[in-house]
Amino acid sequence: MRAIIIFFCLSIFFSCNIQEKSTTDSFDTIKFDSHVHLMSPELIKYWKEIGIPFSKTESNYSNVDTILNNTPAKYINLIGMAYVYGNPEYYQGSDGAQKMANENNYLLEVSQKYPNRIVPFFAVDPLKEYAIDELDRCYTINSNSGLKLHFNASQVYLTEPEHLKKVKQLFIKASAYKLPILLHFDNWHPKFGKPDIEILVDSILNKINPIELQIAHFGTSGGFNEKTKRFIDAFVDLKDKGRIPTKHKITFDISAVALDKNSEGVSKLTEEEFIELSKYVHKIGVKNIVFGTDYPLYRSNEYYSILKEKVGLTEKELRIITQKNIAHEKF
Ligand SMILES: [Zn+2]
Repeated sequence: MRAIIIFFCLSIFFSCNIQEKSTTDSFDTIKFDSHVHLMSPELIKYWKEIGIPFSKTESNYSNVDTILNNTPAKYINLIGMAYVYGNPEYYQGSDGAQKMANENNYLLEVSQKYPNRIVPFFAVDPLKEYAIDELDRCYTINSNSGLKLHFNASQVYLTEPEHLKKVKQLFIKASAYKLPILLHFDNWHPKFGKPDIEILVDSILNKINPIELQIAHFGTSGGFNEKTKRFIDAFVDLKDKGRIPTKHKITFDISAVALDKNSEGVSKLTEEEFIELSKYVHKIGVKNIVFGTDYPLYRSNEYYSILKEKVGLTEKELRIITQKNIAHEKF
């Protein structure tokens, strides 16, 4: 079951075509794309070997110039995927720690080509005993980075005391280093949602110094459905009750939420769901939302148009969400 779920998450990722479109005007409009993926040639090779389909040539996933050209935004957060090497469903080799380090190294290295445009988000698997060492190592290479955590790929359950303890340690480190965190929170447990948010808030966010936290895909794993709504409802409810400490900067990224095309296992939104999504955008508040494409899922100009035409966001609202980013505050 777990294998199916994990594969499903990947397949939405790769099965979408990257459409060729003119990109020039969106470069001025879109200041930040907060969720752009990068894979090393080594990772692409491995995934091809295990049968994961790629619809475009390798450079679309691994070459930073091609990526910046494909998904134009003035600044991007470039998100690494090293966490996959921690998952036994993806990778069975005994050198997972080294593979993870290689993937992070590739991300940190290519990002250096545009240090003023790209903030790399290296990834660790919180449950591995070497997670803190890997965080320290990457931070030493580039202190102007971010940290990506993926609770589905790493199968993290905050309801497990041991998991909670390890995640909390990473959050404390990230806070001390001023590393923004991008969190893919949804672990695909059927009961994922309110209990997980409450633990995150009560046992982590309330106990640590300020952090910058970007919650990926509106809290779940892409698309917009009952689970997404339950997650947002629970979060907003805690916020309204004053239970979420205001010292932290918490944003929701809208990447992969407004799907206008079917992907394996995830339906595109119906017209009614797009309208419902619009209500939820306002429930979260545009000032708390950041723009992201989950590239290669979408290009920035393509996704911008969907938010405008299908979700019905105004130019002003789009300006608010595209001009905000947790990692580029100095720019
Ligand atoms: Zn992503």
